[in-house]
Amino acid sequence: MLFRDLVELCSKLEKTTSRTEKVLYIAEFLKKLDLSEVKPAVWFLTGRIFPDYEDRKLDIGWATVSKVLKSLKSTGRLLAKPMTILELHRALLKISLVEGEGSRRKKERLLLSILSSMTPNEMEYFLRILFGEVRVGAADGLVLDAIGKVAGVDEDTVRRAYMFIADIGELAETALAKGAKGLRNATLQLFRPVRPMLAEMSYDIRSTIRELGGIAAFEYKYDGIRLQIHRKGNEIKVYTRRLTDVTNSLPDVVEIARNIRADEYVIDCEALSFKDGKPVRFQDLVKRIRRKYDVRRMVKEIPLEIRAFDLLYLNGKVLVDLPYAERWSLLEKIVDEEYLAKRIVTGDPNEAKRFLEESEKEGHEGLMAKKLDSPYTPGIRGKYWFKIKPAQTIDCVIIAAEWGHGRRRGWLSDYHLAVLDEDSGEFVMVGKTFKGLTDDEFEDMTKRLLGLKIGERGHIVYVKPRIVVEIAFNEIQRSPKYKSGLALRFARITRIRYDKSPYDVTTLSELKRLYEKQFEKKSRIEE
Ligand code: AMP
Repeated sequence: MLFRDLVELCSKLEKTTSRTEKVLYIAEFLKKLDLSEVKPAVWFLTGRIFPDYEDRKLDIGWATVSKVLKSLKSTGRLLAKPMTILELHRALLKISLVEGEGSRRKKERLLLSILSSMTPNEMEYFLRILFGEVRVGAADGLVLDAIGKVAGVDEDTVRRAYMFIADIGELAETALAKGAKGLRNATLQLFRPVRPMLAEMSYDIRSTIRELGGIAAFEYKYDGIRLQIHRKGNEIKVYTRRLTDVTNSLPDVVEIARNIRADEYVIDCEALSFKDGKPVRFQDLVKRIRRKYDVRRMVKEIPLEIRAFDLLYLNGKVLVDLPYAERWSLLEKIVDEEYLAKRIVTGDPNEAKRFLEESEKEGHEGLMAKKLDSPYTPGIRGKYWFKIKPAQTIDCVIIAAEWGHGRRRGWLSDYHLAVLDEDSGEFVMVGKTFKGLTDDEFEDMTKRLLGLKIGERGHIVYVKPRIVVEIAFNEIQRSPKYKSGLALRFARITRIRYDKSPYDVTTLSELKRLYEKQFEKKSRIEE
């Protein structure tokens, strides 16, 4: 199949408003693919180049692309033979592997040969993929539905299989190669990290208890790094929430994992560190992740501990369908108390509130409320976990930044913040801020953003939506100015979330709910 055919599908999808029709088009397209090209086709279609968990980068910025485009124009090259999806993917892989002296020129040459095979329309889509725009062809949700259609299974089966298979390209390949059975049989395997369960926002403790069935477990919410630990005998591997293998950077976590009393397990936990009895802040903790040099020194400086909160696999048995209360009692048997999340079970909001205060006093973020009879499910489906934080924050992705004035001259400092509109798959702006970062962080952020630059207008630099920041604010207001319809008042960055992907940011519907929630305490006059 040619890349051109994929672009044709994307244009068709853009012109269609009906979700059912879109799913149908994608399903038809998937069925026409050769098995060997399913993975790259699905990656491209969903705005990816490589699977999420691969730490592979093309390292091609805006400057390189505009240079190559210019030379393409000036040489007036004739259109080379159109590339197939597989050829294009191989060419991109090659670019990602170029290293060392003269690598810039080599990358430019490879990019030139790719672009010279493309019509302007193809180029536009290709650049969207290259620059990581979310809305290339289809949001993940549409493709998951199409995969379900192709295999003849329902949505829950697809989502469940996606939790275990974790790469949307491979999921599609499994559906096409093995059909319904392939998806139904997908299960947890050791050393294949699963997509983690996530939490919804809790708007208040009382209604959260009600939602969870009148009684719930409350655990400390640690402000650490989410880790999934897999063990089989002597082999131990540690993965981040984005499924990257970070075992080599974390020998201290591996040591703790070795002392857990089971031969085979998969544990979900949070890693954190203490200094003078207080938890080390998140910005310092992340220095440990993916560290390739000076690992020993870092272990000394920021020694990690874990707080385990879930058990997904134990001695040959997959536990994800067991009720959480049962998983917890198995977890308790194999992990020492000091490495378990602090936890109570109650239906009394006041008791939960006191526990929340304790957690805060010890320097943690808040609480997690969990439904006792819930299975382990991917993402936030099911509404089984709720995060309770005293200070309401949301996660936004930076989509542009403005050059600073005065003291901030020379830095990109006013950041355009966006949430995810899950209906359109677009990032929509909700505010701007230059507050909350230290000078060093501004400096570092400027470098990172320039590396993600995709365009420039006046003093505004547009960037690939990659960097996620946690944002505190005083109020959410209606806004005619922003497409989202909402604006954050007095937004400030509370931390940079290098551990989160742009797909994990707060959604527009969550923000709308928060907006409405404000009026429980305040009355509204306008509107
Ligand atoms: P957030 O990142 O704010 O959306 O909150 C969810 C994250 O809280 C999870 O991904 C974990 O990394 C973290 N977390 C901390 N403590 C717990 C806990 N006891 N149970 C589950 N997740 C926890």
